[in-house]
Amino acid sequence: MPAEWQLRRKIVDIARRVHAQGFVAATDGNISARAMGDRMFITPSGTCLGELNPADLLYLDFERRVLAGRGRPSSELALHIEVYHQRPDVQAVIHAHPPVTNAFSFAGLSLADPVIPEVVVAFGAIPTTEYATPSSEEGPMVIRGLIRRHDVLILQRHGSLTVGADLSDAYHKLEKLEHAARTLLAARQLGSVRELSPDELDRLATVAEKLGYGRSRLIPPSSP
Ligand SMILES: [Zn+2]
Repeated sequence: MPAEWQLRRKIVDIARRVHAQGFVAATDGNISARAMGDRMFITPSGTCLGELNPADLLYLDFERRVLAGRGRPSSELALHIEVYHQRPDVQAVIHAHPPVTNAFSFAGLSLADPVIPEVVVAFGAIPTTEYATPSSEEGPMVIRGLIRRHDVLILQRHGSLTVGADLSDAYHKLEKLEHAARTLLAARQLGSVRELSPDELDRLATVAEKLGYGRSRLIPPSSP
């Protein structure tokens, strides 16, 4: 099977999992993957991720020119292209609307505070961007500074953005983010939640470094 078709099948496989897990509803969310030679595949606008077929994907260059495929590319195309410009290491991008993660954002609560040790090690802080009108040209601007240092962002009042070395990596980050949000929600319902101490954070930073993660990601961002 040609590499291009394998990549198409993998996007569809991940899209179905994103929908099946309830990380999106109806035609929400979008997924892209970097292809050879500054090209990319992205999911089409107005199509349910749970009902996608490999032939439905659009093949584009980074100047937003559609080279193959019918229909319009996802309305968040500019957001995806911004990630690929900022992060040559990133091969896949997933934007979803995970409900509990989003609930924290709508309630004005941050997920940046360090509470769950393994999340701190894997992600560092989880920043929330400034608000941008969905599908607008503001989207790339609000992620620009943060995506250089973070693989997991919360788009204020909108959803998640997870990026990875491949599609599975970006998907696992989404799953881990929503799981962390669900766990924190339960903890808050049971009582007050204590943040990790600076000492504990320092020891986790050493673990993160040993695993090859950058220490700088542990510093909570100044934005909300
Ligand atoms: Zn969205």
